Amino acid sequence: MSSFGRPATKEELIAILATEEADSAELFNAARELTIETVGAKVYFRGIIEWSNVCIKDCFYCGIRKSNRQVERYVIPDEKIIEAAVWAWKAGYGSIVMQSGEQRSRQFTDKVTRLLQAIMRETNGELGVTLSLGEQSFDTYKQWFDAGAKRYLLRIETSNRELYTSLHPPDHHFEERVECLIALREAGYQVGTGVMIGLPGQTDEMLADDILFFKKMDIDMIGMGPYIPHHQTPMASAIPDFEAVKKQQFYKGLVMIAATRLFLPDINIAASTALQALNDVGRELGIMAGANIIMPNITDSEYRASYQLYDNKPCTGETSSMCHDCMTLRLSAYGVEIGFNEHGDSKHFFRRIGAETH
Ligand code: SAH
Repeated sequence: MSSFGRPATKEELIAILATEEADSAELFNAARELTIETVGAKVYFRGIIEWSNVCIKDCFYCGIRKSNRQVERYVIPDEKIIEAAVWAWKAGYGSIVMQSGEQRSRQFTDKVTRLLQAIMRETNGELGVTLSLGEQSFDTYKQWFDAGAKRYLLRIETSNRELYTSLHPPDHHFEERVECLIALREAGYQVGTGVMIGLPGQTDEMLADDILFFKKMDIDMIGMGPYIPHHQTPMASAIPDFEAVKKQQFYKGLVMIAATRLFLPDINIAASTALQALNDVGRELGIMAGANIIMPNITDSEYRASYQLYDNKPCTGETSSMCHDCMTLRLSAYGVEIGFNEHGDSKHFFRRIGAETH
């Protein structure tokens, strides 16, 4: 029997987060076993399309922040976005994620609505769509939900107010982000959030509080990954020698996944691309530590290099079908089955709305 039971308190979470690497195999096995028991052994693909890097926000950590004048800004034409969605549907991906920089305008809202309607039409309403388009009003969230999006990802980035403030300009507000998570839930979405792990000044106690925050907000899905500096941001050298701490940063990312799984067994947890940026088999190891979702990139190759949230983002020179074959092969090497043609919805969501999982 594993000595890593289900943590019940903040202190127990902190103890798990402090697990030494020598004892980690046991921790990761316990998390993977629990994953299989609760959400199943299969891993689900969400094809992610990063369809625009135009952004009104100026987050200190992010490579596509408004003030970074060195980024070539793009918006992928509608027909190419729809094409990518149809490609994913035909490839058997149960769902896609449409992510972009943040914009707030009637024009932006309506464009996304039209895209959703077209994608629903072209895929017989079978493709699940997750949005990750930042902070919006309840009405906007509702309009997109009615147009067919059923899940939304909005990372809180950190649940610690002071740390949040240190990572953002004064007009970015923690409370507003929390309000958005509440609005998303009211609009009917499966709600996803998450944090960056290994931020300058972040402690294990803060990470434990992040997991408690996920529980308090009754979150359905988590997307989280290690913080990785981007050289054109104000935080470029906030971690003095990143190369030297890269391994620890990666390891903390895995431990955070395992701790979250042990605390919140029935949610979906993604093995983020940032894990892959720090370790060649990063996403696979994320799965073996308790994640059950992978987001292969389906962005047109032409644009990938301009969606650099952090340095050395992987797979930017590849095409959608290369990412598909690569991920499938990589997972089979770990004996992990992929849930093709299934939505792989959050079991927690159906439990909280009192319905059976389909
Ligand atoms: N505009 C959308 C999508 C943001 S990009 C939104 O606001 O939700 C998706 C995520 O990338 C962010 O939420 C952030 O957690 C992550 N990210 C940004 N910069 C990063 C960095 N330097 N290292 C690791 N993750 C980063």
